[in-house]
Amino acid sequence: MTNNKQIPLSVPNLSLDILENVKETIETGWVSTGGRFITEFEEKIAKYVGVERTVSCQSGTAGLHLALRVLGIESRDEVIVPTLTFIAAVNPVKYMGAEPIFMDCDDTLNMDMDKLEEFLENECDYIDEKVINKSTKRQIKAIVIVHVFGNPANMERLMEVKEKYNLKVIEDSTEALGSYYLEGKYAGKYCGTIGDIGVYSFNANKIITTGGGGMVVSNNKELLDKVSFLGVQAKTDSLYFVHDEIGYNYRMTNIQAAFGTDQIDRLEGFIETKIKNYNLYKEAIEDIEGLTLLSFRADTRANHWFYSVIVDKEKYGMDRDELLRMLNDENIQTRPLWRLIHKQKPYLESQSYRIDMGEYYEKNLMNVPCSSNLSEEEVGVVVNKLKDYKI
Ligand SMILES: *Cc1c(COP(=O)(O)O)cnc(C)c1O
Repeated sequence: MTNNKQIPLSVPNLSLDILENVKETIETGWVSTGGRFITEFEEKIAKYVGVERTVSCQSGTAGLHLALRVLGIESRDEVIVPTLTFIAAVNPVKYMGAEPIFMDCDDTLNMDMDKLEEFLENECDYIDEKVINKSTKRQIKAIVIVHVFGNPANMERLMEVKEKYNLKVIEDSTEALGSYYLEGKYAGKYCGTIGDIGVYSFNANKIITTGGGGMVVSNNKELLDKVSFLGVQAKTDSLYFVHDEIGYNYRMTNIQAAFGTDQIDRLEGFIETKIKNYNLYKEAIEDIEGLTLLSFRADTRANHWFYSVIVDKEKYGMDRDELLRMLNDENIQTRPLWRLIHKQKPYLESQSYRIDMGEYYEKNLMNVPCSSNLSEEEVGVVVNKLKDYKI
């Protein structure tokens, strides 16, 4: 163990300017789920990603839960999800009493579109515009797509599948705020704004943060109205407290939004730094045999949220776990990929389809420091270690 200052994996990049906003919430007493910062933050995000309106909420997870609910996912329905992602993308399916079906990833880390189509084609029946899973006889109603590490998924393919099979698409864009497409049908469109509903997260490790928080976007006004309604306990009459449905306490607070209005103004700057640091890593890692820095999709402007290094044990001389341990011992915080969700205890009984690429990445992928306040010198420290350790 050395006494070097820690180089963290991903930490918030906050400005003391936020104090002005927080001071205002205290002075005015608007600290809860109403107040001008909420409206302002919602409007700023809407403008940034190019949609008419957004609805803020407590967390990305809450946003995903609301999305499934307003899209009509019910108990006994099935939802196609990726296995390679953070478990919060899938848990809301279970909150609804529905069942996930796990899909593999391709070399972009996002859901493998070939396998997805193959599954729908071969393992399902299409009856009365409904997709019925042959093995369970249950209806598949939706697909949750995740733009993993901010790398835009192939939405063009996915939306074709959606049309063909009449499925709903929920874009888990919790990692991908600021990523957009440069070419093709969706050129100029931001991740999160293409499917039926998109969700962003402002958790502390995300590209911008409100401490904790989320935002739901959609081009369907009715769906957003419903999200907004259910997020505040489904109050039909606010004077007499009439409730005709079961709602949730999922609204964002004005204090969270007070962070958000400042953070969103700085997002483009954060992305610039992330891209700059990514390129520094790339240049250095290209010269280290046995290590590969995964690229982001070429026809997109990805937000470069997290950087992924693949460790080839034969060529590098040690495996991913050994390398992780050595870096962490030197106070360089690195982490392995998530445990694949279909292998997590709550999901062992769930269906999964031909997963093998996910296994490869789970074993060999490592995330390296990528904060938006990471300095050039710090990148240098990390890559020097990566060079030194090679056997
Ligand atoms: C962070 C994250 C979430 C959950 O967002 P929270 O705001 O932390 O609830 C969901 N899905 C993915 C892929 C995430 O990375």
